[in-house]
Amino acid sequence: MPLKTKRIRGTRDIVPAEIHKWRYVERAALKVAECYGFGELRTPIIEKTELFVKGTGTTTDIVTKEMYSFDMGRENISLRPEMTPNAVRAALENGLLGDALPLKLCYIGPCFRHENPQAGRYRQFIQFGVECFGAQSPSADVEVICVARDLFERLGIGEIKLRINSIGCPDCRPAYNQKLVAYYENHKDEICDTCKERLTRNPLRLLDCKNDRCKAIAMDAPKSLNHLCSDCESHFSGLKTRLDVNGSKYVIDPFIVRGLDYYTKTVFEFTSDKIGSQDAIGGGGRYDPLVEQIGGPPTPGLGFAMGLDRILMVMEENAVPFPEPKTRDLYIGSMGEEEGIKALTLTCALRREGFIVECDTMGRSVKAQMKYANKIGARHSCIIGSNELAAGNIKIKNMENGEASDVALTEKALIDFLYGKYADRIVIK
Ligand code: AMP
Repeated sequence: MPLKTKRIRGTRDIVPAEIHKWRYVERAALKVAECYGFGELRTPIIEKTELFVKGTGTTTDIVTKEMYSFDMGRENISLRPEMTPNAVRAALENGLLGDALPLKLCYIGPCFRHENPQAGRYRQFIQFGVECFGAQSPSADVEVICVARDLFERLGIGEIKLRINSIGCPDCRPAYNQKLVAYYENHKDEICDTCKERLTRNPLRLLDCKNDRCKAIAMDAPKSLNHLCSDCESHFSGLKTRLDVNGSKYVIDPFIVRGLDYYTKTVFEFTSDKIGSQDAIGGGGRYDPLVEQIGGPPTPGLGFAMGLDRILMVMEENAVPFPEPKTRDLYIGSMGEEEGIKALTLTCALRREGFIVECDTMGRSVKAQMKYANKIGARHSCIIGSNELAAGNIKIKNMENGEASDVALTEKALIDFLYGKYADRIVIK
């Protein structure tokens, strides 16, 4: 019967044969973040819609068009479309800002946006991100950027480009916005319909429209970098100096403005030319007013989020080798009832020791059991028959080279044998 209920458009299943890639990238991300002192935070996937309205902002596409929101009686709830507002909420709700500052948090988890699915753009995708609260210095900006840099290098995709810009602060942005709007008023008839809307709702976004005509008009538009106040100016030059000293390559890109309302000063994006039109691997920046906006004390903040789906795409495009997926260490075949029970008992004992072991649970013939052992890539196999049971000995075969070893049919002997073969095995008990 054909499957009637299929997965929702823009969502994906990650099957066991692929999971090792995800685990590898997720572990690497958490490891790098840990080296920089970011502690892992896990927040709920569902939050009150108002959190994103307050945090992400009402002029963003994410909030106005893309959130999965639903009414549950008295509460309007949304699936998180990003995790920065969650991190701020969690930091405030758990009193984390009262501890030593800067507070450094990182996270990995699914986010949801009702976008038009295409290659690299999903409705459910995995983000890894870091947030740093309390630090005003551009050193913190560099630290955050370097988490991403180090991760790309560790994953073998160090060619990813860093683009930086500064979009000013509440002191200097209003005057700049006016100049921007004045420029675009003269081009009102030439810009796309979305940009016409942006002109009143979110003028900065006019600069990152992907429409060719709008792009051409944006070339001559006033740029925020030429209209920064002295505080923003010195922050940006401090950022550049630190990146230079640190050997981090970057390009200054006045068209990076970020889509979200909360950014101030530094904004940045990581892009790849390997994965087509959805080329943004990650992005972030400073959001100094956000903590206060969500109800906390005035606290500077900054961070980034990156899409792990896209990181994996770049890695696959670069043919980066992933660590081999784990296969079974041993398959214990058996022939007969009593032998089957022995195989099961030994299998369970070896598993408790941390080895990956399988035995027959299908009532198959020995031939079929061995075929299965081959199929699942077991590295060793043995068969317990009545002779082996009586003699208290088995032959363990190396499935790669056919070599056979005689081993006593006891838990201890098998454990010793496997430790001899897999000396590097880290056992978690
Ligand atoms: P944003 O905060 O919207 O810039 O998102 C940060 C990163 O998350 C982006 O640079 C992408 O790598 C990733 N991302 C955002 N939306 C999607 C999506 N719909 N599908 C896959 N990845 C996404």
